[in-house]
Amino acid sequence: MPEAYTKIDHTYDVVVVGAGGAGLRATLELARSGLKTACISKVFPTRSHTVAAQGGISAALANMGEDDWRWHMYDTVKGSDWLGDQDAIEYMTKEAIPAIIELEHFGVPFSRTQDGKIYQRPFGGMTTEFGKGTAQRTCAAADRTGHAMLHTLYQQSLRNNAEFFIEYFALDLMMEDGECRGVVAWNLDDGTIHRFRAHKTILATGGYGRAYFSCTSAHTCTGDGGGMVARAGLPLQDMEFVQFHPTGIYGAGCLITEGSRGEGGYLTNSEGERFMERYAPNAKDLASRDVVSRSMTIEINEGRGVGPEKDHIHLHLEHLDPKILHERLPGISETAKIFAGVDVTKEPIPVIPTCHYNMGGIPTNVHGEVLTVVDGKKDAVVPGLLAAGEAACVSVHGANRLGSNSLLDLVVFGRAAGKRCAETLRSGESHRPLPADADERAMERLDRMRHAKGDTRTAQQRLAMQRVMQSHAAVFRTGESLAEGKRKLAEVWAMKADLSVSDRSMIWNSDLVETLEYDNLSYQAAATLEAAAAREESRGAHAREDFPNRDDDNWMKHSVAWVDDAGSVTLGSRAVMLQPLTNEVQAFPPQVRSY
Ligand SMILES: Cc1cc2nc3c(=O)[nH]c(=O)nc-3n(C[C@H](O)[C@H](O)[C@H](O)COP(=O)(O)OP(=O)(O)OC[C@H]3O[C@@H](n4cnc5c(N)ncnc54)[C@H](O)[C@@H]3O)c2cc1C
Repeated sequence: MPEAYTKIDHTYDVVVVGAGGAGLRATLELARSGLKTACISKVFPTRSHTVAAQGGISAALANMGEDDWRWHMYDTVKGSDWLGDQDAIEYMTKEAIPAIIELEHFGVPFSRTQDGKIYQRPFGGMTTEFGKGTAQRTCAAADRTGHAMLHTLYQQSLRNNAEFFIEYFALDLMMEDGECRGVVAWNLDDGTIHRFRAHKTILATGGYGRAYFSCTSAHTCTGDGGGMVARAGLPLQDMEFVQFHPTGIYGAGCLITEGSRGEGGYLTNSEGERFMERYAPNAKDLASRDVVSRSMTIEINEGRGVGPEKDHIHLHLEHLDPKILHERLPGISETAKIFAGVDVTKEPIPVIPTCHYNMGGIPTNVHGEVLTVVDGKKDAVVPGLLAAGEAACVSVHGANRLGSNSLLDLVVFGRAAGKRCAETLRSGESHRPLPADADERAMERLDRMRHAKGDTRTAQQRLAMQRVMQSHAAVFRTGESLAEGKRKLAEVWAMKADLSVSDRSMIWNSDLVETLEYDNLSYQAAATLEAAAAREESRGAHAREDFPNRDDDNWMKHSVAWVDDAGSVTLGSRAVMLQPLTNEVQAFPPQVRSY
């Protein structure tokens, strides 16, 4: 029996879990529409991982050359390797334009062109005229775009009277007969438990990059929303698709933005060769991320890596005008100095492909409503539950995300989720009482972990999981290696019975927080490995050496994965939406529609 905890009940129209770009954009939309809104975050809002986004946010504004949202849509469909849902991609690329102008009006301090328009830089995979030219489509606030957005959205949310519960850790959803009734959270500061009852709960908890040993994302990116959804018996989607960023700093994992190559940076191997010219003669260093990451891995595997271990690659910026570096890339100059000891005006930066983004997540429709699959085939909306941002899989990124499309995804679908709640709810609508056992599962789990008396520390188990993921579910994959990864991960799951947590307090118990986070990560690690082992083709970021080609006949489908509390995974599938929302895309060249 869980011991007595101090519990406090709250009632809101909507509760948002997460205060990154997606959570804040949703919160702002809800607060502006007059709904009583709570936003819960385990870290101070402006410390969410979105703050680290450097390169920018895409939208076909055509400020620096011709552009059209249909070209943006084409690039995104192609970048997704035809796994993205075309209705959602149409919605995102079209809505990008008003969504960015709105951000500008909220006060995001975008960099400017000479004539005062929002500055836009080229980014990998962003083209004009359906692949013919290079688009300048990525809006930037120097190399601190995420930082600028997050601060603006937080201030605007406060201005509109959203209520924040900061340093509250959401534990689990409260589900009743398949409907989400709210969320249970732990106030890290005073140890109290809070039950947030709400008509709608929006999960905007970010990605699960920390399932890997080397990743660019913050320590807080532990996929807590995905863990909650899995424990609620709902599926996760397309989890085998994990993007590796070509340029994480060797050793530390910190990101050097693709914007650095957009501004003219290039990669070389141990022979000093600009090898991307061989792999992607047109796009070269600005080819899409999976192409660049794989090319780098091939160079390293074939013995042309740099450094004493020949295990990384050089990124050159030293030929660029120091004034440009200072103006457009000041943050990365500092990061390179601190984490690699490199002065970018004089020497190359050591880099390596590093886990950067999770394309998979909680399946939703274009309104952000969470979907499940019934009878093995039919989509059904989960009442009361929405998701947005990296935690969600709408799916606009399909098998691979284009750089600068994630910040866009956050604002477009954070806003869409907020709008959906505003359309379907009236402020102050009455609530049914919660069932007596609404928080029982959440409390049982918390109590069990808090009092875990085994012999292996959380950090040891987490490291074991991260190493399995890094070795068996990274850039190159084979059936054999994935099977071995599955076996090893099952061993790591079994270690949970021997978990040791030494701090039993409820106040700022980071040992317990990390244990809950590790547990959340482990569900997603299991889904990733299982779905990767099952998908016998190569598509986007999922490159199987034993199945090098895309296989549309058998695999043009989303995979969905249910993970149970023992780590066993059941797989299913959903159809890819190949129909756009409207017929405004009729001007598309035939290759978009017939792949
Ligand atoms: C270094 C880096 C650079 C990037 N650069 C770009 C870029 O230039 N352009 C681009 O488009 N994309 C970029 N990306 C990707 C993009 O930034 C992320 O996908 C995006 O910021 C995720 O936003 P989010 O709102 O979904 O989640 P996050 O910003 O990760 O926020 C998650 C929120 O959820 C809260 N939370 C999580 N779990 C819990 C819990 N249990 N209880 C309570 N609260 C919880 C956290 O406190 C936080 O507020 C970059 C990513 C990284 C790592």
